Amino acid sequence: MLSGWLTVQFDTEYFKSRQILYPSAMKLGNLVQDNWIEGDGDGRILTSAVSGEPVASISSDGLDFAAMLDHARKIGGPKLRKLTFHERGDMLKALAKYLDEHKQEFYALSTQTGATRKDSWPDIDGGISTMFVFSSKGRREMPNDHVYLDGAVEQLSRNGTFVGQHICTPKLGAAIHINAFNFPCWGMLEKLAPTLLAGVPAIIKPASSTAYLTELMVRRIIESGILPAGSVQLICGGIGDLFDHLNCQDTIAFTGSKTTAEMLQQHPRVVSESVAFTAETDSLNMSILGPDATPGTPEFDLYIQEVVREMTSKAGQKCTAIRRIIAPAKVAGDVVAALSSALGDIRIGNPGSKEVDMGALASQDQRAEVRDRVTELSKQADVVYGGSDDFDLVDADARKGAFFMPTLLLCEKPLSSTAVHSVEAFGPVSTVLPYDSIDEAIELARMGEGSLVGSIITNDNNVARELVLGTAAYHGRMIIINRHCAAESTGHGSPLAHLVHGGPGRAGGGEEMGGVRGVLHYMQRTAIQGSPETLSVIGHRWIRGADEKDPGAHPFRKTFEQLEIGDTFNSGSREITLADIDHFAEFTGDKFYAHMDEEAAAKNPFFDGRVAHGYLILSFAAGLFVDPDFGPVLANYGVDDLRFLQPVNHGDSLKVRLVCKQKTLRGDTGYGEVRWDTEVKNQDDEIVAQYEVLTMVATDAHWESVQ
Ligand code: NAP
Repeated sequence: MLSGWLTVQFDTEYFKSRQILYPSAMKLGNLVQDNWIEGDGDGRILTSAVSGEPVASISSDGLDFAAMLDHARKIGGPKLRKLTFHERGDMLKALAKYLDEHKQEFYALSTQTGATRKDSWPDIDGGISTMFVFSSKGRREMPNDHVYLDGAVEQLSRNGTFVGQHICTPKLGAAIHINAFNFPCWGMLEKLAPTLLAGVPAIIKPASSTAYLTELMVRRIIESGILPAGSVQLICGGIGDLFDHLNCQDTIAFTGSKTTAEMLQQHPRVVSESVAFTAETDSLNMSILGPDATPGTPEFDLYIQEVVREMTSKAGQKCTAIRRIIAPAKVAGDVVAALSSALGDIRIGNPGSKEVDMGALASQDQRAEVRDRVTELSKQADVVYGGSDDFDLVDADARKGAFFMPTLLLCEKPLSSTAVHSVEAFGPVSTVLPYDSIDEAIELARMGEGSLVGSIITNDNNVARELVLGTAAYHGRMIIINRHCAAESTGHGSPLAHLVHGGPGRAGGGEEMGGVRGVLHYMQRTAIQGSPETLSVIGHRWIRGADEKDPGAHPFRKTFEQLEIGDTFNSGSREITLADIDHFAEFTGDKFYAHMDEEAAAKNPFFDGRVAHGYLILSFAAGLFVDPDFGPVLANYGVDDLRFLQPVNHGDSLKVRLVCKQKTLRGDTGYGEVRWDTEVKNQDDEIVAQYEVLTMVATDAHWESVQ
């Protein structure tokens, strides 16, 4: 049974190093409690999608799943939680760089999954770049701290002595990642990056058929030595009794079919422990061609390109692929003709060959399943292109590889058909659904009952708005493409780390990625209530009403380390004269009537005469709070949340109160960001302006080096 392995040759160091002296050497490893171990027995044989030859065997039999969870909770979690978000972000960056250096190995092995080099790009490079994005998001949008503050402080009492704040802290369990076969690298990394950034260890279970590629990548991750012990474990094979040991601190992130998701979601332990479960499942994603996009327009050509790309990349095995082509009835024939012609140019065959545009499906089983789905679809739609086993192949054997001809169907009566909106053929298969009006296009789009992504190709922005408002509730992501953005568009089928990936209904009802939103899936949001001072200390962010400390010197004389949250500076006061307003108007050119014309200003409901410019207030405030001599404050790089709350007339006097609100060290740069809560008040102690000043302040080391 195992003799076929002797003929398998891989151009990778990994497989060379595991050469075949004993068949068991090809068995995939499970990473359990930081050790690579093989499951019991011979395991299930995994075959190449291209040659049909065995690639590896897989077994997780005999693993101690309870011990894996225990290890994640007791070793991985505590080690990760010791790091701040920024330190975890640095870790992700180092890991992404390491994987990038090894990516040629992944590309070589990826061919066995049926993927061309172009198909492998979103999986391998896309996965690595997802890690880079999360690293950067973690360092820029999260604090250099262990607690994430979610939203603004809520005022809960009349005098401000009792306030509320939402905080997020890492869950104290493990994140179980169950992935689909089609993206063995990206599927793992898009879940792993936000999980690690949250400070939570992961137990990864790739889909069996392509697990050999995930296993290789996990080996490289572990070899890098970048992650703390216990951060990552890997199960190649079934998950045994893992779910029986879950508790409320664990999280499950699942990608795969709706049927499996529903089954796992109903596991008694998931139900009784309320284990957080997010699912990305099937999707009959649609793409609408706008009525304006007739043949001859750039949008029509863009539509054909987009649909063909989505049908054929990864041989259509993408959860985001376009399955429903919603086109105006008057051009449906043109769409079918143009798509058929373009699909006819697609060269199918050995994904390792440069001559090939589309490789194979992931396995023979998958091919059989896609065939069955096409049969189901063809009961309500006509096959207008493909659907045959007789097609040319480049450098491949049709009997051995899981090749499938791109297949286009046309459903003349899409509103009364059900299969075209519910049967997912997970391959290069898509159906044209003609529509007669925008309302009908919207209805057809909604009949998919929830999708990951929908696209609209139109150069009419009003049509785009109508279609988006009519269908957004059924989609996790929508992309509108026209001639102006097409060249730089990331395309219908590409989920991005910055944007949410997930969708309602059939798509699983989950959400992943979306920048920091994706990190929060692995954290617990807790509302905390208390005094401003208590909450300031817990969150490391000063809240109005908390203690205002005497810094002992002007705070601009203090280094990043010397500054304390709550350090306060109260300025002297300065009177605003009419000459100041005139001078400011002349100097800046801002001669808006409210500053220049007494009578006109008085007609304005907000003013009772000429008022000082808002930017004058800001500029004078800077003059009042600044300590001008050379010092540790390196730069003012902006203001946030600026509001002018009261008009300032000539004769008013201004003074400023500046409080050190938040400090964020910027890695090894020699400086950190200091955010100052700033209030400008008038002679009656009324707040006239409120904002946050952002400065960069030198660390002790940097300050000493420049003295
Ligand atoms: P699947 O059969 O549901 O498998 C998905 C994952 O679940 C695999 O890792 C599989 O492991 C695992 N699994 C299956 N039964 C399990 C069980 N009883 N206990 C624990 N784990 C179990 O789906 P698939 O055929 O691999 O993937 C194709 C489907 O996934 C398509 O419908 C596609 O639309 C969907 N998909 C969705 C997304 C998305 O982001 N929404 C992305 C990709 C794919 P084994 O392989 O070991 O069985």
